[in-house]
Amino acid sequence: MAAETISTAPQSPPARVFPRLGPELTAALRALTPREIVLQVPAGLVRDAHGMAARLREEVGSSVVLAVRPCFGACDFPSRDEAPRADVAVVLGHAPIPNVALLRPTFFVEMREPPGDVERLAETVAATAVPRRIGLVLSVQHLDLTGPLAAALAHRGFDVRLGRGDRRLAYAAQALGCNYTSAEAVAADVEAFLFVGTGRFHPLGLAFAVDRPVWSLDPLRNAIDPPIDRGALVRRRQLLVASVRDARRWGILVSTFAGQNRSPAARALQARAQARGRDAELLVFDRLDPRDLEGRALDAYVNTACPRIALDDASNYPKPVLTPPEFLMALGELPLEPYRFDTYH
Ligand code: SF4
Repeated sequence: MAAETISTAPQSPPARVFPRLGPELTAALRALTPREIVLQVPAGLVRDAHGMAARLREEVGSSVVLAVRPCFGACDFPSRDEAPRADVAVVLGHAPIPNVALLRPTFFVEMREPPGDVERLAETVAATAVPRRIGLVLSVQHLDLTGPLAAALAHRGFDVRLGRGDRRLAYAAQALGCNYTSAEAVAADVEAFLFVGTGRFHPLGLAFAVDRPVWSLDPLRNAIDPPIDRGALVRRRQLLVASVRDARRWGILVSTFAGQNRSPAARALQARAQARGRDAELLVFDRLDPRDLEGRALDAYVNTACPRIALDDASNYPKPVLTPPEFLMALGELPLEPYRFDTYH
């Protein structure tokens, strides 16, 4: 994949995309003659961050500052307050989110992995009980496998579907922790999904989002994991919803990060809660810290920021935290079944 420009929200500065660090990125940065670059790296790459900043400084000839706040997605790039002098941002490890407006020209370095031994991966899949009609979903780092792996699986008798998601996804078949619309687009046509990437974050999100078994292929280890028990996941959430049906005092969590800010949805939820006789307070923050919710006279929360806060980090919070669809279930405005993932569109 060569560098390309991805169109973002109207009036947004451009997003340039690079598969990995290298001379192409350096040349594109030099051409802009930036006054200052703000470099943002995900937690897994922090150890190398200072070396990367030094290289950029030397090769581009501009001042470079490092954004220190942990970043979890392309939804929370450095704000103006965090890097007031920077006129260019370099964001590592994420694809742009096309419908999120940027603050400054931003270079996304997706840190793509080379496809490797695709035939061996396809053999591993074929040797398991993965159903033959499958949807392929990949993390950004492994998207270069999409075409070759789909072809290798088709060669072994699989019917492989690649879905195109909504405007929050830059690529077909892409996984994003808050948006699996690429999978939803083909869910009716497949018996199961094959997620390609590392870790449990995306298989878990996919399991919530689609009512199909999700197999996980780790292309770095050439290892495949069987599906997560979706029924158990959903039942746990439904029990949580049932436990707060009578809660009177709700906090509605709203993030100011560009790509996590659902203020209109939060206000609509507040109005729905009040119409049903509940108190509902809007609580505003940029990055949510569980300690900031301690000691409040509230019974439960509904989170409109990153959907994964409620689903993955619930045990860090002093009171139950629901997603917006779960909150509507608790109010009796949506049925418990079918379970609805909080897709961030
Ligand atoms: S909202 Fe959450 S899941 Fe979505 S991109 Fe941001 S950090 Fe990732």
